[in-house]
Amino acid sequence: MTDSFFTIRLFLDWHDSVQWFSFGLLGALLVLATLQFVRSRRTAAGLRWFGGKSLGTSIGVGAVLLGLIPIVALVVLMTERSAYMRHDRMETRIEEMATAVAHSVERFVDKHVSGMTSAASSINASGDFSATSIQESLLLYHEIYGDFLTMLGTDAKGDIIAASSRLDGVLAPFDQLSGLSVADREYFKAPMTNGFPFVSQAFRGRGFGADPIVAISASLREQGGTRVGIVEGSLNLSAFDEIDREHPHIDGANLIILDNDDEVIYASPEAKLVFLEDLSGDALVISAEGLRQGVAFDYDDQSLDRNRNHMAAYATTALGWRVFVRVPTDPIAQQMLGDYKVGLLLLSVTAAISLLMASALTRRFSTALGQVNDAIDGLSVDGSDTSVRLPQDMPTEFEPVFAHMQDRAARLRGAYKRLSNSIETGEKLRKELTQAIALKDVEIAERTAELEKANEELSSQSKRDPLTKIANRREFEAFENRIWNLGAREKMPVAVVLIDIDHFKAYNDTLGHQAGDTCLKLVAKALEGSANRPLDLVARYGGEEFVAVLGGAAVADALIVAENMRHAVLDLGMVHPKTDEGLVSVSIGAASVVPTHDEEATSLVKAADDALYRAKASGRNCVVFRREDDFVIYDPDEHSLESTNIIKMLAGDRHRKTKGPPRG
Ligand code: GH3
Ligand code: MG
Ligand code: MG
Repeated sequence: MTDSFFTIRLFLDWHDSVQWFSFGLLGALLVLATLQFVRSRRTAAGLRWFGGKSLGTSIGVGAVLLGLIPIVALVVLMTERSAYMRHDRMETRIEEMATAVAHSVERFVDKHVSGMTSAASSINASGDFSATSIQESLLLYHEIYGDFLTMLGTDAKGDIIAASSRLDGVLAPFDQLSGLSVADREYFKAPMTNGFPFVSQAFRGRGFGADPIVAISASLREQGGTRVGIVEGSLNLSAFDEIDREHPHIDGANLIILDNDDEVIYASPEAKLVFLEDLSGDALVISAEGLRQGVAFDYDDQSLDRNRNHMAAYATTALGWRVFVRVPTDPIAQQMLGDYKVGLLLLSVTAAISLLMASALTRRFSTALGQVNDAIDGLSVDGSDTSVRLPQDMPTEFEPVFAHMQDRAARLRGAYKRLSNSIETGEKLRKELTQAIALKDVEIAERTAELEKANEELSSQSKRDPLTKIANRREFEAFENRIWNLGAREKMPVAVVLIDIDHFKAYNDTLGHQAGDTCLKLVAKALEGSANRPLDLVARYGGEEFVAVLGGAAVADALIVAENMRHAVLDLGMVHPKTDEGLVSVSIGAASVVPTHDEEATSLVKAADDALYRAKASGRNCVVFRREDDFVIYDPDEHSLESTNIIKMLAGDRHRKTKGPPRG
């Protein structure tokens, strides 16, 4: 079934389609590859159409698409082509064979026609038409033309007068035929009528053997032209098998020679045809109808048991016989199928090889990539390039990569060394800088402390008198103003007491400026010790003058304080060369008032100063105070009743004390 399916006709019918399909496939591949190339150039996406993300898939798909498909197309094309050519060659060969065999048949017949003509001519030339003479000639010619089975000669009536035979292989006169008439036979009538040599249709011999024969006859003529009989030879057509054998053999080819009635004159034994079998209804003859001679044609013959498909060609002889050469084409188809099988096998092997090669290539490539990756991975930041050695058996394309990496590693190493040095230097600098900053910080802290101290000192100095260390005049004025305002708000009396050292110029002049300074310090201390209340302030007013502000002190209170001060200075017991008592003494002016916001604090100072002036004028070493518009020298015994309650309490004590020291 499969065998009969793959006929040469199938291949021939599909030849063009297969060819176009193959070309189409290759064309499509070309377009695909071109587009791919253009795309990969434009987008660098590369082989994306082949679907593979990995190179391995791409190479695999590429190998199949670009490698196998063309091979498939090629195998199909080549097999088709070779089958086509084999078919073509076969056509040529059978065409040639048919023509050649036809020529041979023609020559064979012609030779025997001329044999009979020669025999007739020689008899004619002798002019002796006796049975003996003809018999002699027949034997002579029969000797030369061995393919005649029998030969005979007749008289003008058609009676056989001489005959020879080679029926049993030995040439001998054929006496049995003598007297038989062949007047009714075409081979007698035709030459007798028209004088031309005659070749009959093929027929089976009668009476003597059953071989297929043709009768060839020529007329016998007297000098005058009168036909006096014929000579005839029965040509044994079995001699065609010699022609058949003589010709170059084509595998499975059959030679079939048909006469004008399409009856078999000769057929190769393999054709299994019977002599004179009528082939006019045969597929071979029907298929040849309308076809020119010498042109091969394919045809199917269902009646032939195995090989249904045949190719045939015929050539016609001068007698109108047709020489057919017939070849079964199924073997060609089988051969073609075999070609396909071999092709497919080769294809499979090629596919396997290319896939193996592709995977080997991919593996080699990916291994190399892996090694590159490892090398990059192992390339440490300090440029130590232990892993940048070129691995064994690496594709040469990767050598530059490693060379570059080694180069980069070397540069990296240099850069790293420089960087490390820089970092080291930087670190050293940083340390030094940190130390310097720390030192500077300490210095700054020290300076700050010093400054703060200085500031503090400055600030206290601005309030203190440098020599006596008691409040200075500025501080006095500020304090006085505060107390003045407080007094004005609270309706509280405020007293100012001015103190001046007596004859201090003389003290200075006699004991020296140094002693004067010491005196000033001691006096200041004594004065400060005499005014201890929260709202009291003792200050140096200038030179050897001092002032005391006594918040909340009425005149009597101020007087007690003033008197205490005078005593305190005297109690120092400092020798003064120019005073009456011989001791350093002070004169004091005091004044007290309940301040108002309309008046200035300076008015109170002015009042105390006026009182001081009176004290100096009154002989010094005394306290003068203003009472109403008058200035009064303070006398403890006289003025004790005028003190306030608080002062009274303290005064008792004080008065007793103040009574003690003498007055000058
Ligand atoms: P009186 O009893 O009238 O006040 O006479 P006095 O000499 O004390 O008064 P005067 O104003 O004439 O003399 C004041 C003297 O005080 C002049 C100056 O030599 C002296 N003096 C002023 N300030 C200082 C000082 O800071 N140190 C010393 N050692 N002497 C001073
Ligand atoms: Mg003075
Ligand atoms: Mg003085």
